[in-house]
Amino acid sequence: ESFSDMCVHPSIMKDIAYHEYTRPTSIQAQAMPIALSGRDLLGCAETGSGKTAAFTIPMIQHCMAQPPIRRGDGPLALVLAPTRELAQQIEKEVKAFSRSLESLKTAIVVGGTNIEKQRSELRAGVEIAVATPGRFIDHLQQGNTSLSRISFVVLDEADRMLDMGFELQIREIMRNLPEKHQTLLFSATMPVEIEALSKEYLANPVQVKV
Ligand code: AMP
Repeated sequence: ESFSDMCVHPSIMKDIAYHEYTRPTSIQAQAMPIALSGRDLLGCAETGSGKTAAFTIPMIQHCMAQPPIRRGDGPLALVLAPTRELAQQIEKEVKAFSRSLESLKTAIVVGGTNIEKQRSELRAGVEIAVATPGRFIDHLQQGNTSLSRISFVVLDEADRMLDMGFELQIREIMRNLPEKHQTLLFSATMPVEIEALSKEYLANPVQVKV
């Protein structure tokens, strides 16, 4: 399996080559074709497996196929992650694979940092928001962003998000999404709580495990 067999957009292919990802990792080889096909995915994978690229590349490609974002629009894609550090890492990877897509804007929406800057970024409109659940809800409640244009969602390290007490916030977001959306859920472990979450919010998902 190689990246060029996966129907990845040429501009993203260039960035993959630039970052010297010569071969897909196991999770990438398994998950990317499914994610790129538009299906929901339940991925059992740990940090270090290459899971971040496995979802960021399909997410960027999804956004490229949507009408552009204008001021006042909510994002097209939302990644929920347990910590600020992980959100920053994910955003870095989004930037890495969208180097030549100048129009693709992202925001990191996490606690413990300047909420004013996040507010103005969100209000100006971004294609992709990488967020911790609590802070994203804060912005929703303040009217700084909306769920109305979201058609691609990633729950990353879902087991850690539940451990940190984010279940209610995740559910609040998931049940208010537009009907038509694609969801990818990644978790290092698959306790019953994650199975329940995936039963409720994933539509006929393909399960992959590394
Ligand atoms: P992750 O599990 O997403 O945190 O990725 C772990 C590390 O592997 C990161 O430093 C990535 O940049 C790197 N990585 C991911 N996929 C590949 C690949 N196909 N080839 C080389 N390095 C990779």
